[in-house]
Amino acid sequence: MKLQTRLFIGGEFVEARRGGTIETLNPHDNSKLAAVAEATEPDVDDAVSAASKAFPAWRDTAAADRGRLIAKLADAIEAHRDELAEVESLDTGHPIRDTRNLDLPRTVAVFRYFGGMADKLQGSVIPVEQGLLNYVVREPLGVVGQIVPWNFPVMFTSWKMGPALAAGNCVVLKPAELTPLSSLKIAELVREVGFPAGVVNIIPGYGNVAGQYLAAHPQVHKIAFTGSTMTGRKIVEASAGNLKRVQLELGGKGANIVFDDADLNAAINGSAFAIFHNQGQACIAGSRLLLHEKIADQFLDGFLKLAASIKLGNPLDPATEMGPLTSTQHRDRVLGYCKIAQEQGGEIILGGKAPADSALAPGCYVMPTVVRARPTDRVCQEEVFGPFVAVSTFRDDAEVIEIANGTSYGLGGGLWTSNLQRAHLIARHMITGMVWINCYKRFNPGSPFGGVRGSGYGRDMGFEAMTEYTTPKSVWVNVDAKIPPFYAR
Ligand code: NAD
Repeated sequence: MKLQTRLFIGGEFVEARRGGTIETLNPHDNSKLAAVAEATEPDVDDAVSAASKAFPAWRDTAAADRGRLIAKLADAIEAHRDELAEVESLDTGHPIRDTRNLDLPRTVAVFRYFGGMADKLQGSVIPVEQGLLNYVVREPLGVVGQIVPWNFPVMFTSWKMGPALAAGNCVVLKPAELTPLSSLKIAELVREVGFPAGVVNIIPGYGNVAGQYLAAHPQVHKIAFTGSTMTGRKIVEASAGNLKRVQLELGGKGANIVFDDADLNAAINGSAFAIFHNQGQACIAGSRLLLHEKIADQFLDGFLKLAASIKLGNPLDPATEMGPLTSTQHRDRVLGYCKIAQEQGGEIILGGKAPADSALAPGCYVMPTVVRARPTDRVCQEEVFGPFVAVSTFRDDAEVIEIANGTSYGLGGGLWTSNLQRAHLIARHMITGMVWINCYKRFNPGSPFGGVRGSGYGRDMGFEAMTEYTTPKSVWVNVDAKIPPFYAR
């Protein structure tokens, strides 16, 4: 398979101005996949200037035509889904069964949704005084910088680029330095389906260089960021120079609550998916398992059996259910949390180490890990971002609401119960952007995705995402108003 390794700027693939490269590794065995051109400040300038040049014509392109092009991109991604799934699995370590069956279809669906949305973003007419017409149009912002992390790189191209392009903006997208390959493949398809030069620019580079510079760039009018809360704060600071708009999709510490009246089999299965899918590298992972004390032992019995049976292995093997973490550094960080848990009196009841299989030793693997901890312990407060779930128990609804809301995050959370009234009541009390009842980690292109508090602000997907990429303009027309002169002369 031919990998794309150059920057995509102004409709062309180009080498980095300063000639630097970033090595990207296969986390299965840490072998080198490619050396990708590293964007630095002059490349960011080139990309922003290409986007600025392309903006007026793209803004004035009929919304239906913008939508048609985005839909064409969705079709092209669908046609290349096997190749893209393989690239994604190689670069990130996601099992191929997931990249093929989840990430790629979801990417296609999100581009299709926003392709269809392009000509549905209507303005409004406001009922004002007699003789005046006031209408409100939603206009694109201009050049949008988009900075994304390494956990779902191909999917994030659609979450970010879909609504921005549909609304008439031009984009400069910086993928994570660890996983640039699938976005560069998407760039090839952007070119193939005929987007005008400069409307889409994709520039892999390091966060503290290209990312920081893009976030501060005076010709960029919005930064849409997905990543850690710590980096989110830096983005806000960098944005202050030209007061650009900022949208932040940050970390999470999802509470997954199992009540004593829940269907335990469904809850066990759903809770395992909530934390172990994508090796737990998901902002919305159900990383805090809160069990009612009456069913805790029975639940854990089934949950541990299921977790222990998850098949770890080479992501390219279709039988693999869990791949490696995306980098060695991240694996070490996750394993470091096992030590932190123990230091605070936590008990590791499953995993907590790399798998014994010597074939997996060179890779970034961590076994499914289950830790008993108190809700105030660090492993219940900080985002571990791995196949690592912290388990605590609770006595009643009031206590569990307090525990669930007792972190600095507010992204997503779930609950399992057969009591309808309780389900809605707890959902109402959870301070999060998303709640799942008797399911977990569901999302759809039409449904707004994002968080509150330390998990950020703004929404990816849904109608909200389109409005995030526009600004209202209120236009006043004197149709027949008799306006008395303000100055009497
Ligand atoms: P990160 O914040 O380190 O990096 C994310 C992106 O920001 C990367 O492209 C990186 O190069 C860039 N970056 C780093 N420093 C920067 C700086 N100073 N200025 C500008 N850009 C900079 O996060 P990560 O470790 O790559 O990703 C994992 C995090 O992403 C987790 O916290 C996870 O919860 C979060 N995440 C959130 C969502 C969501 O929708 N809320 C979705 C997925 C992941």
